[in-house]
Amino acid sequence: MAEFDTLITGGVVFDGTGSARFNGDVGIKDGVITKVSREVRLDPATADKVIDAKGMNVCPGFIDLHTHYDAQIQWDPYVTLSGWHGVTSIVLGNCGFGFAPCAPENRDRAMLMMSRVEAIPFESMKEGMKWDWETFPEWLDYLDRAPLGVNVISYVPIGPIMNSVMGIEEAKKREPTEAEVAEMCELLNEGMDAGGCGWSVQRLGDGYMSVQRDYDGTPMATDTMSDELCMAFADVLKNRGDGNIQMSAVGGLRFIEKMAKESGRPIIYNAIQSHDKYPGSFRRILQWITDARAGGANIWGQAILNANEEYFRLDDFNLLDGTDEWREVTLGTVPERIVKMNDPKNREALREHFDHGRAPAMTGPIQEWVIDDCIKEENKKYEGLSTIELGEAMGKHPLDAMLDLTTSEDLLTTFYHRSFNLDPAFNKEIVDAPFTIPGVSDGGAHTRYITAGRYPTDFICNIVRGKGLTSLEHAHYALSCIPARCAGFYNRGTLEEGMKADVLVYDFENLNIVPEKPVIVHDFPAGEWRRVQYAEGYKFIIVNGVTTFIDGECTNETPGELLRYRKDEQEETGMMAAE
Ligand SMILES: [Zn+2]
Repeated sequence: MAEFDTLITGGVVFDGTGSARFNGDVGIKDGVITKVSREVRLDPATADKVIDAKGMNVCPGFIDLHTHYDAQIQWDPYVTLSGWHGVTSIVLGNCGFGFAPCAPENRDRAMLMMSRVEAIPFESMKEGMKWDWETFPEWLDYLDRAPLGVNVISYVPIGPIMNSVMGIEEAKKREPTEAEVAEMCELLNEGMDAGGCGWSVQRLGDGYMSVQRDYDGTPMATDTMSDELCMAFADVLKNRGDGNIQMSAVGGLRFIEKMAKESGRPIIYNAIQSHDKYPGSFRRILQWITDARAGGANIWGQAILNANEEYFRLDDFNLLDGTDEWREVTLGTVPERIVKMNDPKNREALREHFDHGRAPAMTGPIQEWVIDDCIKEENKKYEGLSTIELGEAMGKHPLDAMLDLTTSEDLLTTFYHRSFNLDPAFNKEIVDAPFTIPGVSDGGAHTRYITAGRYPTDFICNIVRGKGLTSLEHAHYALSCIPARCAGFYNRGTLEEGMKADVLVYDFENLNIVPEKPVIVHDFPAGEWRRVQYAEGYKFIIVNGVTTFIDGECTNETPGELLRYRKDEQEETGMMAAE
């Protein structure tokens, strides 16, 4: 019997602990890293398979904390884009969204909800989802049986719990009764017992920042839930002494801090990103977390450091939902939207908003939107123009020009807004904060607009290699070790003996995101499309000791596992999540 199943020799090892790189070999046996040698070469004859990593970097696989692959993982075991970009473990059930618990009669409604709030194509869910569960524990059992190309853990999302106990419409309208609170807490406890890693919510209120709404334009139940209800869920974790809390929130920072202190549980706050015109906003969040931590609140911040541009069409775009005038005309079917967009009263309101209103939260000023792609030949001449320039070219108000153009193309015109989060000095402040975690991939969500699943590759290529904002040692610590602790993994996230063998071998100089501009592919169920960007330079992606990708080519192996929080050996080692 060979000592190792796989031996990775001659590479430069970044072990993910943040300590300095070294020349070394990594030996893997039965899915576990059994040997890490520094400066000493191990004998290739001791291994069944040898990976020559000369000239390559060797590091722990990336851990993607913020995903919405809950639907996609049912038809794509590698959860791409993340899986293409070196991610070996993901966390599902973010923002309080998911598909369990869900009674059979509510499945279509649950998918309809996700088709807007997270912009996952409805027909893909309808065709691609397996739906052989009702409860959250049954959902985890499904994942346990499913072929997985990455490791998976899940939050217990609060939305489906509120919806199943109170009913979708009721949960939005009123406070729960005492009995309902008790029932919801019981469901949370059950989910945690089954292996959930904590709970999650999106609390964006019902105003300008409420950009992720239900299919009918109303805020999600969690958006408007009370502090008291949040605290009741935090108390569940406090009483258990386990689990983390993920919150996508604006405002209410004092409350989040109070909840962290009173529950004693780690809170992962989403999201921090710089804005080149308004540095005050991200600095306020960094300062708040710094102060809160000094006061004993265990808060982490997830940061968007990759370019935050979006490509979008008005036939399905949902991220204008925080702006009343735009939400009004972007709800409903395409013919309904066109009628509303051409209604003179709506036009007047939209012109007024264009001239004097606040820029939509996610897209920035509409004046700066760019026409990316036109459908009709005669409109091709407008491609590359901003809406202001389009107005000049057409000789009308830019708002009218834009809407006349896109309604004439059945809303299939593609718009683009630039990234506003790329100031290197600002991003260095975010990267240097000791509590920030790069990456809000939002993987599996907004699949037609964003390709943020590229964030790990982007961090190495742009933040480290391109701009030199931090060291590669820190990059691997921040992309693997910190998120491992935040997900509750005790035995992943670093390349140390005894850890699970989630390993990457990559070519630092030639690591790249390709193509530079996202491309459209039709690879979702029901022939639906999405935007993607691939990676080149990952020579080997290894999950639990088994290679899943070689130079971007999938091996079709599915070594990923459903991970259940704080089970098995974790209890023996007593290591705590994110603490
Ligand atoms: Zn989310």
